[in-house]
Order: sequence, then C-alpha cells, then structure tokens
Amino acid sequence: MIEVSHLSKSFGSLSVLKDVSLNIRQGEIVVLLGPSGSGKSTLLRCLNGLEQADAGSVRIDSVHIEAAMRAKERKKAVHELRSLTGMVFQSFNLFPHLTVLDNVIMAPMTVKNMPKEQAVDIAEKLLGKVGLAEKRDEYPSRLSGGQQQRVAIARALAMEPKIMLFDEPTSALDPELTGEVLQVMRQLAEEGMTMVVVTHEMKFAQEVANRIVFMSEGIIQEEGAPEHFFAGPKTERARKFLRQMA
Ligand code: ADP
Ligand code: MG
Repeated sequence: MIEVSHLSKSFGSLSVLKDVSLNIRQGEIVVLLGPSGSGKSTLLRCLNGLEQADAGSVRIDSVHIEAAMRAKERKKAVHELRSLTGMVFQSFNLFPHLTVLDNVIMAPMTVKNMPKEQAVDIAEKLLGKVGLAEKRDEYPSRLSGGQQQRVAIARALAMEPKIMLFDEPTSALDPELTGEVLQVMRQLAEEGMTMVVVTHEMKFAQEVANRIVFMSEGIIQEEGAPEHFFAGPKTERARKFLRQMA
C-alpha cells in the first residue's frame, strides 16, 4: 500500500531523512517511534506531499511521487496523494469559525464537489462513530481538546482516505482526554484502516501496532513486531529511548 524508497531530505545543511526505505501493507498499523528531531514528522509529511523530498520516491496505492518529477507532474501527484491520505496533527487545526458539522463537510464539498446533503449524511455518521453526534452544531472552542481531536479525525475520514497518518495526536491533551482519542484510533485499526502513527503512547504502540519502526537521526535504526521490539530492542539507541520513556 505504501512504498517509500531511498527517501532523503535536508533542510539547509541539516540532513533530516537519510535514505529511508519502508514498505507498509494494506491494513497494517505502523507506529513510528524515536526521539524528538529524528525525522518522524518529516517522513509523515513526505507521505502526503506536505514536504518534498530531495531524493527517492513515495508510492501510495497507485500514486507515485518522485523527487525528480517536474513541477506540473508533481502537483498532480501531490493532489492525488492528499486524497488518499488523511492526516491528524498534534494541534487539532479545526476551523474555529465553523461548527463541528461544517468542519467535517467542508473538504468533501469543496475538494470533491460532493452535494451538501450527501456530505452531511456522511459527516453525521462519522460524528456518531467518534461519539460526538450531539455536538454537531457546537463551535470547536466549546469542546474539550479530546473532543476537538475526535472531530479532526472525523474530518479526515470524511475524505474517505485509504491511509490515516497521525502525528502525535494526543501530545497536546491532558492525560484524562488521551484515552478517548486512542479509543477512536483503536477502533479504526480494528476496522482495517492502514495507519501510520507517531506517538509516545507506549501502551497503545504495544497493543495496537503490527510493527514498530524506530527512527533516530534520520535513519530507521530498527523495526519489528512490538512484542520483539519492546522485549529486546536490538540497538543501543532504541534501548536508551525506551529507558527514557519508561
Ligand atoms: P520529529 O518529528 O522526529 O521530532 P522532525 O521531522 O519534525 O522530527 O524534524 C527533524 C529535524 O528537522 C529537526 O531538527 C527539525 O528542527 C528539522 N526541521 C523540520 N522541519 C523543518 C523546516 N521546515 N525547516 C528547517 N528545519 C526543519
Ligand atoms: Mg514530530
């Protein structure tokens, strides 16, 4: 479903991704772990075209994007990539002047030209799924952080993505609100969604991931099944990371 090959990315003289290759199967839940600054967000951003790599390629489903592409070709591919991927960020990024429902119907209507009636129908189902059906007419500022993040997930799902990318979705939340967001993610995982999740929630990683990918300094240092990774990380860097997280 996802094929990252030999991806490299620098910001000025800072080399952030160094020849990263990674394949992810349909329905797989990959949790990306690693210390701050290791390139996790940059890798996710390359997956949905928010960031342009200097070298290498990304293929998602049938969409292929290469560093060497010409601008026009690339623009088309990025557009297709965006429609295949839903992304949820640490900051919820809801539109503050729109109600919950309007936040969710916005992209399907403007990007996909979906008729309003149909978009509302889908949005109501998704809000029900994330447990917020009764909040449809509220404004984001009236919701808790956990509720806002669940709206952000519903909003991403409204575009019917094949892959969901999560970049530290619970890092801005109080501990008591983290659980309700992780629960929604767990449910998505059980329904077979392909997911790439950057998180520091080790329990979630252990229980939900099919595979842990550990990055440091722009390199995938090691990867493996969570039961193996957590019981016996192969690299000293990963051992140190896990000690710090404990
Ligand atoms: P992580 O998500 O693992 O914490 P990031 O991918 O956000 O790491 O960042 C990796 C490195 O790249 C960091 O040193 C960060 O400061 C740098 N970086 C990220 N985005 C930019 C940018 N747009 N411009 C310059 N440096 C950046
Ligand atoms: Mg990050």
